[in-house]
Amino acid sequence: MKTYKIACIPGDGIGKEVVPAGQQVLQALAEGQNNFRFAFTSFDWGGDYFRQHGIMMPDKGLDELRHMDAILFGSAGDPHIPDHITLWGLRLKICQGFDQYANVRPTRILPGIDGPLKRCRTEDLDWVIVRENSEGEYAGVGGRAHQGHPIEVATDVSMMTRAGVERIMRYAFRLAQSRPRKLLTVVTKSNAQRHAMVMWDEIALQISQEFPDVHWDKELVDACTARMVNRPASLDTVVATNLHADILSDLAAALAGSLGIAPTGNIDPERRYPSMFEPIHGSAFDIMGKGLANPIGTFWSCVMLLEHLGEPAQARRLMQAIETVTANPALHTRDLGGSAGMQEVTDAVCQFVQKIDQRQRAA
Ligand code: NAD
Ligand code: MN
Repeated sequence: MKTYKIACIPGDGIGKEVVPAGQQVLQALAEGQNNFRFAFTSFDWGGDYFRQHGIMMPDKGLDELRHMDAILFGSAGDPHIPDHITLWGLRLKICQGFDQYANVRPTRILPGIDGPLKRCRTEDLDWVIVRENSEGEYAGVGGRAHQGHPIEVATDVSMMTRAGVERIMRYAFRLAQSRPRKLLTVVTKSNAQRHAMVMWDEIALQISQEFPDVHWDKELVDACTARMVNRPASLDTVVATNLHADILSDLAAALAGSLGIAPTGNIDPERRYPSMFEPIHGSAFDIMGKGLANPIGTFWSCVMLLEHLGEPAQARRLMQAIETVTANPALHTRDLGGSAGMQEVTDAVCQFVQKIDQRQRAA
């Protein structure tokens, strides 16, 4: 029997609700299976930890995660602590410490979900956005001087390395190649940003030659927002910089119905370190503690976690259970226009996970 060691980091706000829900679903999946099980370890890092210790996670915290098979993360963000402290002190510390350089964000309109686009059929929107997750605009390079004086200055330098761009392009081309349409859109802004983004374009062209069977095109990021809305079916796999993809993927999540559904994986493709899976939403201060959070984004992140662990059949089983639940409007949470609570949705997914197992065993 294989034991997968999973670190759970709920963090703040609704992260503290949806991560235990994700754990419950994974546990339901493992129940009665004789070839694998999960060993969960929870970490109480985040805003409350900060109030006690003055830091979001212990200095040697990464060492506690290093030997894990995967990390399930909730959200970092506390109403009483500045966002740049919560983000850099926890989530980015893990992403950068473990060099999780590929942030992968699948987007689809799940059954039963009514997206905001009028003319978009379900099958028109099936994207994976690959976000460069280790450098670029969020490299943390920059500084402030003359603080409080009229000549005050502040810089955020977008730093791109050839090695960093090559590895994310190669990852994106390979992912596009593995999908039926073998179609990649490289998002850029090389008209205005004339140094790093020009190198980005050059490297895209260079890497494309390793993948002659992948069709690819280039789109400026501003034009890409319009294309996502007007011609969703023209996109499949998309690769963009840290900042560009951050913004595009929130748009993608909204076009697919709700921020509460969208999943993401922070992947170390070389598997030197554990990868981290999380819903893309934040702490949602307006609904925290009320049991209203949509847990589907976390469950879909668990699907990605299972794929990463090399359990594709289990991943399919969970995805099927998720889609059975979204297909039923009586099981929609408030963000989807329904009135179901988080626990109701979670219990329903657990139930279907077990039913699907019985059906598969009977077949
Ligand atoms: P948010 O995602 O927390 O909330 C935006 C809106 O979407 C809110 O109205 C919220 O109620 C709704 N929403 C989000 N997730 C939902 C869910 N699962 N179910 C139902 N409704 C949901 O974004 P924000 O308000 O910009 O940020 C709040 C805090 O979270 C900030 O501190 C921010 O820095 C942090 N944040 C963290 C992460 C992360 O850790 N990955 C990501 C985004 C934001
Ligand atoms: Mn974001």
